[in-house]
Amino acid sequence: MNVHEIKALEDRHSTGVYPKRDVVMVRGEGAYLWDADGRRYIDCVGGQGTANVGHANPYVARALAQQALRLISCTEVFYNEERALLMSKLAAIAPPGLERVFLCNSGAEAIEGAIKFARLATGRKGIVAAKRGFHGRTMGALSATWEGKYREPFEPLVPGFSHVPYNNTGALTAAVGEDTAAVLLEIVQGEGGVRPATAEFLSSAQQVCRARGALLVIDEVQTGFGRTGRMFACEHYGLTPDILCLAKSIAGGLPMGAVLVGERVPQLPRLVHGSTFGGNPLAAAAALAAIQYMEDYHLAQRASDLGAFLLDALGQLRSPLIREVRGLGLLVGMELKAKVTPYLRALMDEGVLALPAGDTVLRLLPPLVIERRDLETVVNKIARILGG
Ligand SMILES: *Cc1c(COP(=O)(O)O)cnc(C)c1O
Repeated sequence: MNVHEIKALEDRHSTGVYPKRDVVMVRGEGAYLWDADGRRYIDCVGGQGTANVGHANPYVARALAQQALRLISCTEVFYNEERALLMSKLAAIAPPGLERVFLCNSGAEAIEGAIKFARLATGRKGIVAAKRGFHGRTMGALSATWEGKYREPFEPLVPGFSHVPYNNTGALTAAVGEDTAAVLLEIVQGEGGVRPATAEFLSSAQQVCRARGALLVIDEVQTGFGRTGRMFACEHYGLTPDILCLAKSIAGGLPMGAVLVGERVPQLPRLVHGSTFGGNPLAAAAALAAIQYMEDYHLAQRASDLGAFLLDALGQLRSPLIREVRGLGLLVGMELKAKVTPYLRALMDEGVLALPAGDTVLRLLPPLVIERRDLETVVNKIARILGG
């Protein structure tokens, strides 16, 4: 099919929920993508955060091919070696105390699991989340998500959710009461505009949860797996959540999510939750390979070094359009004084793919394997389109 036929066919049959960029992607390698005309892009979308180990990662590709020829489907009513090894690996690399794992298929599903486990474990109903937080789009996860345009068309949502201003310790402390099952937070608000938490806010969230019998649920769907310069962003703050939600880059780009739980979540009753695809050997093999690659190539350290370079270089741009540059590791946002969409288009014309975070923030989420010279190119192109 030619490019026009592909676009027309997809447009005819898609529901319309996705804003489309006018390009057909064919192939990827590392931090590059190629379109159907053979044009190469530096990819700072990074599969929306799923491609930390890079496109067409050789470890992941090999593990997938081998596992696909061995066993793809195997629900959790049977034992399986790939799954067992993955669960043990996740427990080993996660913050201390998170020893048990529920495997699922996406970020939203990980949040659903966390909400259910928190209600089960505490016998309470309330979930306190943050304004500008994003936790996914299924009905439970959406109830924790803040943005009105995602929520309002689907009300009524799940009862029991409230939202406090992010980084406001007083408001959070006041919101956690007798019926609070969990406080649910991101460490850096990703979709909400790339806003890092303060250490004080996170440590008081942990304290107030412990003091009042609520669970601390941390959503590292976007910040996990090296993105912020540590394997998990919790490590920057010495946080020990009761429940940790993971997805996006967990399996090298394959759909997978995970909920890790600590001792404040007791062994759960049989059949109280489950997932047909959860813990399938194919995704488990991909995840093991992806994590191995992150470790062999020190991707968290790389994200830390390159992220510091990128923040600094962007911070030196002098365009009057720039309001603020912020981030942690290779999760970087540049807040503009204007809507970001036209600038994303202009950047794409320059061969650089980036994504928005809200209306005015330009977000960079490159694969962590990106080369420094490509980030230099990205900075130069941004300077050019912003006139900096
Ligand atoms: C992307 C994201 C989700 C939702 O993940 P899906 O796989 O799209 O359901 C949840 N939380 C955070 C922080 C995210 O960035």
